[in-house]
Amino acid sequence: MVISQDSVVTLNYELTDSDGNIIEEAGSKMAYIHGGHASIFPLVEEGLDGKSVGEKFEVSLNPEDAFGEYDEKLIRIEPKEVFPANLEVGSQFEGLPPGEEDDKWVVYTVTNIADGQVVIDGNHPLAGERLVFKCTVESVRAASAEELSHGHVHGDHGHHH
Ligand SMILES: [Zn+2]
Repeated sequence: MVISQDSVVTLNYELTDSDGNIIEEAGSKMAYIHGGHASIFPLVEEGLDGKSVGEKFEVSLNPEDAFGEYDEKLIRIEPKEVFPANLEVGSQFEGLPPGEEDDKWVVYTVTNIADGQVVIDGNHPLAGERLVFKCTVESVRAASAEELSHGHVHGDHGHHH
């Protein structure tokens, strides 16, 4: 069976940055529904189209094809008193950048706390990075009607509910 629209694909993969630093180590597993369900990088999907079990694929992703360019406008400095007392560097929370629409929530990470002020950064930790994605196709099957209606894979390496 080859990977085509609405295939459930399980990948054995590795993700590194362009310097070879490991982000997800070799042997990591993921499962996704093929064909524009927006669950993996579009360039990876494109490259996997028509492949079958055992085939390998490798692609280098520019920031705009991965987690986006680094956006300095997503850095904010806020007074410490607007946050819970247990806030620490590395804390994360969802927030809406000023002037953005309701569906543009981002995950903010606290990057510094000093002098009564907190610096928060709404960029993805891998924003601005060039990444290398390497994978081997481990299995291919048709998605069930239930998986298609949920938009995600059930079972191994998928959702359990
Ligand atoms: Zn589900």
